[in-house]
Amino acid sequence: MNSGQIKELDKEYIMQTYGRFPAAVTRGDGARVYDPEGREYIDFSSGIGVTSVGYGNKKWIAAVTEQASRLPHISNLFYTEPSTVLAKRLCELSGLKKVFFSNSGAESNEGAIKLARKYGFDKYGAGRNRIVTLINSFHGRTISTLAATGQESFHNFFHPFTDGFDYVPADDFEALKSAVSDKVCAVLIELVQGEGGVNVLDKDYVRKVSELCAEKDVLLIVDEVQTGIGRTGTFFCFQCYGIKPDIVTAAKGIAGGLPMGAVLAGEKTENVLGAGTHASTFGGNPICAAAANAVLDILEGGVLAEVTEKGEYIREKISEMKLPKVLGLRGLGLMIGVAVAENSHKSIVSKLVESGLLCISAGKDAVRFLPPLTITCEEIDAGLEIFRGVLSEI
Ligand SMILES: *Cc1c(COP(=O)(O)O)cnc(C)c1O
Repeated sequence: MNSGQIKELDKEYIMQTYGRFPAAVTRGDGARVYDPEGREYIDFSSGIGVTSVGYGNKKWIAAVTEQASRLPHISNLFYTEPSTVLAKRLCELSGLKKVFFSNSGAESNEGAIKLARKYGFDKYGAGRNRIVTLINSFHGRTISTLAATGQESFHNFFHPFTDGFDYVPADDFEALKSAVSDKVCAVLIELVQGEGGVNVLDKDYVRKVSELCAEKDVLLIVDEVQTGIGRTGTFFCFQCYGIKPDIVTAAKGIAGGLPMGAVLAGEKTENVLGAGTHASTFGGNPICAAAANAVLDILEGGVLAEVTEKGEYIREKISEMKLPKVLGLRGLGLMIGVAVAENSHKSIVSKLVESGLLCISAGKDAVRFLPPLTITCEEIDAGLEIFRGVLSEI
């Protein structure tokens, strides 16, 4: 099919919930993707931080195809090897104790919310169930994770939302401290707010929040759905903050392009969800788990060690361009927000995509880059050339 035919079918048969860019993508290679007519794009989005090992990675393909031919799925009523191996590796890499596998970011956060509420219930009885989240956060699209999301624009149409969430401004410790009453079982934060605009939380603030949570026996949940699995330069972003969360959620890049999510629990929380309290038909699916193990192999094989350097390379190159439209740079590692004038970011992103550079917008003013972690300098340069061209023309 050509691009036009694909778009027609989409329009007729798919619920129009997405404002799609006018490009159809049929294949990829490294950090490049192609439309049906053979037009090339440099990918600085990796499917919103998902295809973290790029396209056509031989190790990843071998792991997925081998597991697909061996055993694609069996229910969680049986033991499987790929998910157990993956869980052990995730615990060793994070210092947490146990994993529950889900299929997406929102589902992982749902699992974390359930875990936190049950912790409060088991230890303090009914009533200790509120969760404090940050204004401008994003935690997913289910009814409860929309409620957890601290942005009014997401609290529309679908009432009643799940009760029990309180919102405080990011980086305001006093506000958080006064919100943490004895009805609160957890604080849920992103360390770099992705959808909210690539806002990096202050280190001192995060350390204080972590200490307050420990002191009050309030669980600290870090949503690493976007920041995790190498994206910000350490395996999990919390590791560059020097804190130890009670619960960490992951998804997006974890399996390099297949749907998977994970809830990681520490010492306090590892045994809260017992038999029958939580489940998922597809959770820990063998193909997804094999893919995730391949992603970890690739990251450990030298890719993770270069993430910070590549991020700095991109930031330096953009600074050197001295583009008047670029008002600032935010982010960590290969999670980068280029600040432009408020509300001009979406049209800039559209122009970049039209010109052959895939990227996404974030918050009120950011052009967001989440390139594959395996991106090469040559691919970065090619993408930044397009960026320079578009930003010096407008
Ligand atoms: C994308 C995202 C989610 C939601 O993930 P889905 O897989 O779309 O459900 C949750 N939290 C954060 C921080 C995200 O970036």
